Amino acid sequence: MLKQCLLPLAVSCIAFSGTSNAFKLLGPSWENGNVSYDTSFPGATPAGQNWSNAMRQAANKWGDQVDGLNITFTDNGFHACAGYTGAFPEDGNQNASGFYTQACDEAFGTDVIAVTLSRSFGSFYVESDIVFNSNESWSVYDGTTQSALDFRRVAVHEFGHLIGLDHEESNAAIMAPFIGSIFNPTSDDLNGARDIYSPATGGGSGGGSGGNPEPELRASLEEPSASQAASGITNIRGWAVGTNPISRVELYIDNKYIDNIPYGSERPDVGQSFPNYSNSEHSGFSMIYNWGNLSPGQHTMEIRAYDSAGRLETDSTTFNVHAFDNSFISDPTRVEILSDAKITNGRTITLDEVRADGKTYKVVLQWNTATQKWDIAEIN
Ligand SMILES: [Zn+2]
Repeated sequence: MLKQCLLPLAVSCIAFSGTSNAFKLLGPSWENGNVSYDTSFPGATPAGQNWSNAMRQAANKWGDQVDGLNITFTDNGFHACAGYTGAFPEDGNQNASGFYTQACDEAFGTDVIAVTLSRSFGSFYVESDIVFNSNESWSVYDGTTQSALDFRRVAVHEFGHLIGLDHEESNAAIMAPFIGSIFNPTSDDLNGARDIYSPATGGGSGGGSGGNPEPELRASLEEPSASQAASGITNIRGWAVGTNPISRVELYIDNKYIDNIPYGSERPDVGQSFPNYSNSEHSGFSMIYNWGNLSPGQHTMEIRAYDSAGRLETDSTTFNVHAFDNSFISDPTRVEILSDAKITNGRTITLDEVRADGKTYKVVLQWNTATQKWDIAEIN
């Protein structure tokens, strides 16, 4: 594990060599420039600015100015120390941050106000987390440093480490090892980030010249289909294929990570469409989901398919949840149709009076092409 000891108030906590007077790189980078970051920081400054927003603003100061660096945010409550201490088991390499009294498994060094903890495999980061010292007082502001530390500029500095930048002592830089009046990435900082993620404009390393064609990756979320009414317990399903084998398919509902969807079921149709892709005839994913777990109304769903090289492809949809108040009625005698069915347009069945677990509902059934059956389209 790499530990960047960050922005101490008085002492530099990381020694580095080299005499170059420009930005310095730590070595690893995020594959394809994709960084997913969980910003579920509870709480706000005394003035009411919430930490989560400040964290996102800090990250975007890099993401908005560096081509090829794609930062996305989640709000899943992941713990920054997951996997670093016995108290918090590994959470699947999620990048997160938080205020803690110590730097996960050990004390903050003297005057250290934040630490970025990173793990990499080969030349790519696997996980990186930022821990802020909760023994300090914090606020959010621009300009000269006050007694309460500016959380956002520290976050910009830490995010600089997270994307692969080391400390810079010669040029004006947010990556200076000490906190100061700089609160944005400077041109030297941005040149460093562009050197990693936008080789075409930043010069330097990388630069996909010649060689093999770029690997491809495709993913499709088929069910629930767009604007489908989701009710009861049904399938989430689709397929993912690519030049490289698929390593996992993640499910997100309303931007919250839910689970990995089992992958590898038979899809002869996809195999025929993409005969040159790895194992495309076994490219299906599916899992059972109880829509009653979600509140009635509109929701979004996204699947994220990753290949063996860490490339990412996504597909998403919006859908409406219709559910009885009780999401799982275990006694079948608690469900009863009390009125005659009305048929409209040959495909829609309306039941004006359905008793379900002691309450009366109007239920509309509609033919669903995706599932090949009559599904509940409305519960009122
Ligand atoms: Zn630092």
